[in-house]
Amino acid sequence: MANSASKTLLKGLSLSQLEDFVQRQGMQPYRARQLFHWMYRKNVPLIAEMTTLKKSVREFLETHAEINLLRLSHAITSEYEPAQKFLFELPDAERVESVYMEADNRRTICVSSQAGCALKCDFCATGLMGQIRNLTPGEIVDQVLWVERHTKKEATNVVMMGMGEPFLNYDAVIQAAELMSHPDGIAISKRKITISTSGIIPAILRFADEGQRFKLAISLNATTAEDRRRLMPITKKFTLAKLLDAARYYTERSGQRVTFEYVLLRHVNDSLLDAKRLRRLLANIPCKINLIPYNAVDLGYESSTEERIQQFVSELATFPAPVTVRRSQGRDIQAACGQLFVQRADQKARRRSRALSM
Ligand code: SAH
Ligand code: SF4
Repeated sequence: MANSASKTLLKGLSLSQLEDFVQRQGMQPYRARQLFHWMYRKNVPLIAEMTTLKKSVREFLETHAEINLLRLSHAITSEYEPAQKFLFELPDAERVESVYMEADNRRTICVSSQAGCALKCDFCATGLMGQIRNLTPGEIVDQVLWVERHTKKEATNVVMMGMGEPFLNYDAVIQAAELMSHPDGIAISKRKITISTSGIIPAILRFADEGQRFKLAISLNATTAEDRRRLMPITKKFTLAKLLDAARYYTERSGQRVTFEYVLLRHVNDSLLDAKRLRRLLANIPCKINLIPYNAVDLGYESSTEERIQQFVSELATFPAPVTVRRSQGRDIQAACGQLFVQRADQKARRRSRALSM
């Protein structure tokens, strides 16, 4: 029997890539659709469960192909909210996290696009991990399939807001999102799949030019160039002014609003002057503003007080577009935005020394 290294990984392949695979193996072309259906619609974890395939085909596939990419190492359920966090191990033993949340009739899965993140935003736990590697399309889409199997619930929404910067792994993220939205598979509508970026301008322009229909969210998090450079070092490469131009360009090309995420950090970016500046900065961009109360991770930042959050919202009352406050779920299981962090032995020391230097 072939060892797993020589097996073809089927999950993550598009229908046409599956067609190429079955053709190369000398199998009937319709087998590609069957495989697609079993993996993404029926969501079976084993080739052996693909019962419409002849036994000989199943045996052949079990020898030459693999459909499981993730191993669940840990699942934790929140005591207070309908939220669960999943820690997965990848074939090379790297680890990523996904989160399942229920609220307002929505069942949302938050998936990771990279193991770690190179961008090191000052307030984000994932940034502490540094860049480890990009996930493959299969590793991204398999998070959704795994979580749906485990929870026995079909997701209504997917957000690429877990670990990593999706637009530094553009091709894999788009291929995974295509698979999530394919009508013969998981079939989540494109407008219910949100890709969140810290502001990788060339990728935003590409996304706009390609006419992608997935939802775009941009993590803004500051209202002056200086503050943003400090909080999100990527601003040194892609400036705030150019990011806003790119966002405007996207809205013009797509005819869609963009969502701006704004994490509220106490005494850092939550003054009423910030709220006024935010209103001005975004005044001529068709958008929504999503305010995110900061979820504590031990990096020296605090969440704004409830009173300040309300004042900030009131200051935006005259803003012409929707302003919402995201009530993060799963804080008790460290599953809320920005709390995703997988500690590797070599990172413990770094994390400690950084905490001490604050
Ligand atoms: N890298 C992408 C997507 C992952 S981060 C991005 O930055 O957009 C998803 C969101 O979580 C971002 O809006 C980020 O600003 C926010 N975030 C990071 N750390 C957070 C924390 N501790 N509390 C609340 N939100 C946080
Ligand atoms: Fe990376 Fe996003 Fe965290 Fe910044 S906020 S470090 S871009 S995951």
